[in-house]
Amino acid sequence: MARRKLVAGNWKMHGVAADLAEVNAISVAAETAGADVALCVPATLIERAVRAAPGFAIGGQDVHQADKGAHTGCISASMLLDAGARLTIVGHSERREAQGESDEDVKAKAESALGAGLSVIVCVGESDAVREAGQAVATVSGQLDASLPHDPRAAAGIPARLAVAYEPIWAIGTGKVPSTDDIGEMHAALRARLRAAYGGAGDDIRILYGGSVKASNAAEIFGVADVDGALVGGASLKAADFLPILEAASA
Ligand code: PEP
Repeated sequence: MARRKLVAGNWKMHGVAADLAEVNAISVAAETAGADVALCVPATLIERAVRAAPGFAIGGQDVHQADKGAHTGCISASMLLDAGARLTIVGHSERREAQGESDEDVKAKAESALGAGLSVIVCVGESDAVREAGQAVATVSGQLDASLPHDPRAAAGIPARLAVAYEPIWAIGTGKVPSTDDIGEMHAALRARLRAAYGGAGDDIRILYGGSVKASNAAEIFGVADVDGALVGGASLKAADFLPILEAASA
């Protein structure tokens, strides 16, 4: 089946009130885009971003697996929903590395978010050393198998609300991008893992590419089989940089 592309921005630790005009400009363009569009902003900005861009998909960048409790500094899925978020990223490599998040943690977070009614983008990706060693496909496939939600509460909504983002760590924020052959090889392998996990429903789940996507390379990347959109960091902060990527996804 043809999957509608999804272009999601990850603002990371960027964004204060002065940046809400960018959220608004992106949301206006999203209304007529031929792709789904979302922005994952810092938690402090979610509620104001939702108010600045009513009807637009605002998301978080992480979620705790528990619904409430003694977890200082953490945010639960029900809190994200309460703030107006519709989705969240889980398992970004910056969190896997800096916060020591395991595949098991990522899976629990994805299950918690899906169970609460959020959409989820599950990130996977290999290091430079793993790619150099020729182990990228095996490593990332294993990471996905162990990170995918299997909670039966979440099962009903999985195809529509789950996306996977393949983000080679060495491509994030570096300006380096894998060859289209390497992206295609990885996305085909991840599609096979999704089919193994969910049967035919695995064909409905979008697989995004992330890592130095920008206006100049987006169309080529979106032309690769099984690339169903992008997770975009740096180039999502300004509407002027992000909108050409939406246009490429809409073509
Ligand atoms: C990201 O952090 O998810 C990302 C893809 O960043 P960038 O687009 O800046 O490489």
